[in-house]
Amino acid sequence: MCDIGFGFELTKYFMNYPGKINKCPLCLIENESAFLGYRLNKTQGLFPGRDYSNATKVYCCKRCDLVYNHPPAVLPVDSFVEDDSLLTLAQAHSDLGNYEGAHADIIDFLKHTAKLKAGAKVLDVGSGIGRAAYVLRQAGFEVYSIEPKKELYDFANQNKLTQVERSFNRSFEDCDFEKEKFDFIFLEPLNHFSEPHAAIQKALVWLKPGGYLHLETVNKRWLYKSILLFIYRFTFTKVVPFTSPLRKPYNVCEYSAKTFKVYCSLNNLKLSRLGSYACETYIKNKWADKMMRNFMERYYCGMEMSVIVQKQ
Ligand SMILES: [Zn+2]
Repeated sequence: MCDIGFGFELTKYFMNYPGKINKCPLCLIENESAFLGYRLNKTQGLFPGRDYSNATKVYCCKRCDLVYNHPPAVLPVDSFVEDDSLLTLAQAHSDLGNYEGAHADIIDFLKHTAKLKAGAKVLDVGSGIGRAAYVLRQAGFEVYSIEPKKELYDFANQNKLTQVERSFNRSFEDCDFEKEKFDFIFLEPLNHFSEPHAAIQKALVWLKPGGYLHLETVNKRWLYKSILLFIYRFTFTKVVPFTSPLRKPYNVCEYSAKTFKVYCSLNNLKLSRLGSYACETYIKNKWADKMMRNFMERYYCGMEMSVIVQKQ
């Protein structure tokens, strides 16, 4: 297995260190972040230009490889909720049969690796249209869910994807559960949290010792991002393709395989599963698409990271 993923380690070669910064929001180390460049408040394209007046600064932590904005962006109120188009899509395909097979890898992990029994307590943070909550309940678990957006919350309850008595229409920050209540917690997408350490620690309080936390986020080392960064550097722009604090999807932190390895070792967590989903290759040829997918997943340079950690 590759140690820290592929991604060409390009950022390492393009880092410079003009502005030291106070603290990494994940591993909390002080004055160990490098200024990477600027992220514009618009689609950057291949040739983003050199006007950085409406841009945020992007930094990378040298210890945990987290990429983040500093100063942190103030996100719009609706930035944590899923896109409206997802609700439209769900309404058009509300037949529960469509959900069969969803999250099969997670359920397989919970049953065969984590060995959770029927009735084990599971929490889905940001349950959206309720697909994960539904398939987890079908698998025999007692599922609780948190969804801040009213339309999505209502849709999931009305279609019996979530259970009214165990679902909460509020934000993660406003929720509280008793200590060590859950065997498993879904916490995603982590890329929306500008204070990810605080969010993870809050979820860990609700988790039983030996319980599992599932984290999903965008991958800083996505292969196409590395190529884009190369083009930006080659054309002498100071723009970088990381984060998206000023426009949807409002990513404020991006992670790599190394980020999770470092974070687990610093916080006494066991890294139980580390994976990267290719998601989209933009290659039409089926054979080439499959090859590219395998490559991205083998070397952790797919679009997303998917991680399961165990509380000790
Ligand atoms: Zn860090």
